Formats: sequence, structure tokens, C-alpha cells
Amino acid sequence: MKKWLKYLFLFILISFWGIFLANKEYFRSSIREVAGLDKPCSKPLEYSIGEVDQKFGISKDDILEISVQAEKIWETESQRELFKYNPEAEFKINLIFDERQQSSDEASDLENKLEKLDVAHDSTLQEYNLLKSKYSQRLKDYNDKVAEYEKRMKEYNKNVAYWNSLGGAPEDEYEKLKKEKNKLKDLYAYLEKERKAINALANQANQTAEKENQIIDKYNSSLETYRSKFGESREFEKGIYNGQGINIYEFKETDDLRMTIAHEFGHALGIDHLNSPTSIMYYLMGEQNLENPKLTEEDVSALKDVCKIKF
Ligand SMILES: [Zn+2]
Repeated sequence: MKKWLKYLFLFILISFWGIFLANKEYFRSSIREVAGLDKPCSKPLEYSIGEVDQKFGISKDDILEISVQAEKIWETESQRELFKYNPEAEFKINLIFDERQQSSDEASDLENKLEKLDVAHDSTLQEYNLLKSKYSQRLKDYNDKVAEYEKRMKEYNKNVAYWNSLGGAPEDEYEKLKKEKNKLKDLYAYLEKERKAINALANQANQTAEKENQIIDKYNSSLETYRSKFGESREFEKGIYNGQGINIYEFKETDDLRMTIAHEFGHALGIDHLNSPTSIMYYLMGEQNLENPKLTEEDVSALKDVCKIKF
């Protein structure tokens, strides 16, 4: 009798490990059982925050806060506690740093650089246009004054020639011409000063144009780098639910991290991928409402299915 029982026990053990090695899914479901996931919704899935690589630059407290928000997405709809934080829980949310986050950080850095260059370009262009319009206005005034100067100088010389041909000018005419001569000298000095100022303005405008061109070169080469490295959209896993917990590999900000955790929470409940791109359980992130995430009808009905409940 004893022998028989022992044999049966051994048999179960072997088949368990056998399936574990051959098929991960079986392993998952055994962990689901341990974690109380075989009956989703009957008791909350207890989770803790596990390994968090410092390179993500986010604290465990922040991850917990975001995880609690991700819980709420499912819990608000079902009106029951589906997930619960327990620092001792075996089911862990880990942040694993690899080339996915590295490349995402690199892309963000380049995006920021492009944005800054774009802003710098706009302000430089504005500065250039302002200088150019100042230059054009001053040059026009200058040319008008030069024309006036030349006309008056011609007139003055004509008068001088006239009076000289008569052997000299009377006292009052002489004084008038002397005054005009001084005025013309002053005007000449003014024009010379203005000419230099306008040239300096042109120089400044040209330097600004050069600066703008350098910004454009930098922008174009950064854009080229960005396109060659990140131009083609690629699909990668931002996170996975592996049966024992959740691993997060990449996020940009709070919103997409929350969406990723909510998605993996959904898998932990036993929900598979759904068809609508706006659903939390769609396999790609992009069309969901990241700022204000809510379950779609499809998500809700999948939740009802796995929970075998009505709400
Ligand atoms: Zn998924």
C-alpha cells in the first residue's frame, strides 16, 4: 500500500518537471496557482517591487505609485481589488536595463537635441530678419541722404564757380556759402559715420546668417543620425509577464510605464492580446489613451471572461 502511494507521488513529480522543461506555459500556470492566479479576481494578486536598475533613473517608490495607478485601471471597472502591494510578495515588478532602454534614451537625447536646435534656429532666423530689415531701412535712408548731399554739393560748387567768375561774392552771399559749406562738411561726416555703422550692421547680419547655417548643418546631421538609427519603427517588448512577475525593459515617461504595467497586469490576470489598437491588451502601444488610460469594451469583456463574473 505504502509503496503504491509513493510511486504515484513520484510519477506526478516527474510529469510536472517534464512539462516544466518542455513547455514554459505549464510552468507559468503552476506559478499562477501559487500566486493565487488560477482563480483570477477571487483574491487580489499580491505584488512587490523587485530589482530596479539604477540606470532607469526612477525610484522604487515612484514605480510603486505608477503600479498602483495601473492597478486602478482594472479595479475601477471591476469594482474589486484585483492587485495588492505587499512588500513580501513573490510576484515582483522588475526594471531590467538593456539595449532597449539604452537605445530609447539615446533616441530621447537626440530628440531633445533636435528640439533645442530647432528653437535656436527659429530665434537666430528671427534675429537675422530683424538685422536685415534694420540694414535695409538704414541703407535706404543713407542713400537718400547721399543723393541730397551730392545735389547740395553740386549746387554749392556751381554757386562758388559763379561768384568766382564775377571776381568774388558780396559779403552776405559769401557768409551764406560758408555756412552751406560747413553744413555739407557736417553732413559728409555724418554720412561717413553712418556708412561704417551700416557696414557693421551688415557684418552682424552676415554673422547671424552664418550662425544660422551652422545650426542648420548641425540639425541636418543630427536628423540624419536619428533617421538612420531610429527612423524605422521597430517592435520590441517594453515589458513581459513571465508567470513569476513582470519585467519592464523600456519606458519614456510615467504614462507609457503605467500603460506597460497595466498591460502586463492584464496578462497576469490571464488575459491574452486583443484586437483593437486602443485596448490596453493590444500587443502594440501607440493608440491607447496614455494620459487618461481606461479599459475599452473589449478589455472589459476579456476581464469578465477570465474572472467569470458579471459587473
Ligand atoms: Zn502583451
